[in-house]
Amino acid sequence: MNTAIINATVVTGDEDNTVLFGATIVISGNSIDAIGPTASVNTDGCDIVDARGGIVHPALINAHSHLAMTLFRGVADDRNLEAFLARIFPLEAALLDESAIRTGISLAIAESFLAGSVRALDMYFWPEVAVETAASLGFSLNTGPTFIGFPSPDTASIAVGLERFEASPWEWVVAHGTYTMTEEELGLVADLRQRHEARFTIHAAETEAEVQDVVEKTGKRPIGVLHDAGLLGLTSVLAHGVWLTNDEVALLGATRTAVAHCPLSNMKLASGFCRVTDLLAAGATVALGTDGPASSNDLDLYQAMRMAALMAKVNSGDATALPASEVLAMATRHGAAALGVGDSTGVLKVGFDADLVVLDASSPALNPVHDPVSAIVYAASRADVVEVWSRGRRVVERGQLATIDLAAVIEAAKVFAARC
Ligand SMILES: [Zn+2]
Repeated sequence: MNTAIINATVVTGDEDNTVLFGATIVISGNSIDAIGPTASVNTDGCDIVDARGGIVHPALINAHSHLAMTLFRGVADDRNLEAFLARIFPLEAALLDESAIRTGISLAIAESFLAGSVRALDMYFWPEVAVETAASLGFSLNTGPTFIGFPSPDTASIAVGLERFEASPWEWVVAHGTYTMTEEELGLVADLRQRHEARFTIHAAETEAEVQDVVEKTGKRPIGVLHDAGLLGLTSVLAHGVWLTNDEVALLGATRTAVAHCPLSNMKLASGFCRVTDLLAAGATVALGTDGPASSNDLDLYQAMRMAALMAKVNSGDATALPASEVLAMATRHGAAALGVGDSTGVLKVGFDADLVVLDASSPALNPVHDPVSAIVYAASRADVVEVWSRGRRVVERGQLATIDLAAVIEAAKVFAARC
């Protein structure tokens, strides 16, 4: 049966920032079948959901995360990236297996759905388990095997990872960082990526110490290493992009490389400020991510949107920097473009995937609404999410998860956490 969401304030998320008041959206199968004034859209035979004037917006897209790290939430707080990794890497090596990934990612998807997010670009281990779990729960996961310059929990070496990829190619090649891989290893990954025309993501220029480390090892900064390896460009997503020179900002713009800005993680690890407005002005695509829930410490893109806007303003001393419409685009339309799915999601329009969120019309924080886009970025929180559809599947219904047994997932996560 089709579903009609009636009496909605629809923030379409399109390039013109179109907002429709008193509107109806009809969902048929995976996609949006109709959208327009409630009086003029045919809803015969539809299951009716009354938004009661509440805001409906495109579901949020997480452009950088390590979702299953929900399992390590809170085990390595109040330290910088280097000290964080020194705690996390041994834990991952000792404790992770396929079952743990299934638990961690289920918990992450539960949290993401309840925070209005239905898609992520993920970097972690056992991606086949992650993808299978995500599909069963109704979450869209963009990911692939992760390459890193030492034995990882799911892959003994880069050679093994390359062999596996050749036997069973993925849409994405994921590399950890220029500080955890040699130039030779990155070259092998770049070759793999090019031959399979795969999309690519990697951590880059996150901290000053990382940049110094890469300079000492290679004589180049991280962006230079990636450029020389042929790893920048339209189908590449760099996570963080905090420590960039003016030339590097221009290069990322000229190559149309995407940057996944992760403001919460960057602040918590005291990594620095991403130059979002400079990157946008240079022509780069800037999307929004949470980073892993061990460093951020949640998967809340409403917080990420607000922090991105506030960071850009305080960092530039300009209150007009990174307005609400631009920040919402980073979490929706630009995120879809960065992930290569901009022709099917990220905007509410007919024919696109029905990936959308209904916010609570009776939330005190969302009344009155002078500007719906501003309300989403500066006032809404995940507590206001009442309905979520993911490719036409209702995954949050009246504030409750519809596809996940949350109590069972939490129980399994607690058993895992006891071993940390
Ligand atoms: Zn990360």
